[in-house]
Amino acid sequence: MHFQDLSLIEPLLRAVRAEGYETPTPIQERAIPHVLAGRDLIGCAQTGTGKTAAFALPILQHLVENPASGGRRMIRTLVLSPTRELATQIADGFKAYGRHTGLRPIVIFGVVGQQTQVEALRRGPDIVVATPGRLLDLMTQGHVKLNGVEVFVLDEADRMLDMGFIHDVRKIIAALPKKRQTLLFSATMPQAIQELADQMLVDPVQVEVTPSATTVETID
Ligand code: AMP
Repeated sequence: MHFQDLSLIEPLLRAVRAEGYETPTPIQERAIPHVLAGRDLIGCAQTGTGKTAAFALPILQHLVENPASGGRRMIRTLVLSPTRELATQIADGFKAYGRHTGLRPIVIFGVVGQQTQVEALRRGPDIVVATPGRLLDLMTQGHVKLNGVEVFVLDEADRMLDMGFIHDVRKIIAALPKKRQTLLFSATMPQAIQELADQMLVDPVQVEVTPSATTVETID
């Protein structure tokens, strides 16, 4: 299987080639067609399996193929990630894969001052990758509007739970439009995550990759 076989548009294929990727990883091969088709998805996969591109590529394609009406700039994709490092990696992925699309991703996380992030929000990003605490904080202050979100990604859901973010996550979900595409990624599926998935996803496809199989694939 090649990236061309996944019906990805040329600007994305060019970016993937520039990253030096030759073939899709198993999670990319299995998830991309469903996400492109607009389905909700549960992805059981760890970091290192190529899951960032598995959701970033089809999301970028959706945003390019369905431009915002009236050219208004709204946050059209929200990705929640448990740590600053992961959020930064995901935003870097969106920047790299979307470099020929003109779409604007930004990253938001806590501990550091918020001013730069508030300014970045004012410039109208298409994609926001955030840790839950700071995002909620900025929402409460009125700096973030989520009513234009079309695709929502909850990444590393089990770690969100372990780190005590689940209440913040629920509050953020409550501010999202009901009509949206939702993607949930988690390395494990504890009961609490299964319940969250049952509540927030509609008829999801489930895609699973085992880390060991992926290691072999990567070495290939
Ligand atoms: P992730 O699981 O998204 O954090 O990705 C793990 C690493 O795999 C990152 O360094 C990616 O750049 C790399 N990667 C993602 N997809 C591919 C691919 N199809 N071929 C080779 N490397 C990839």
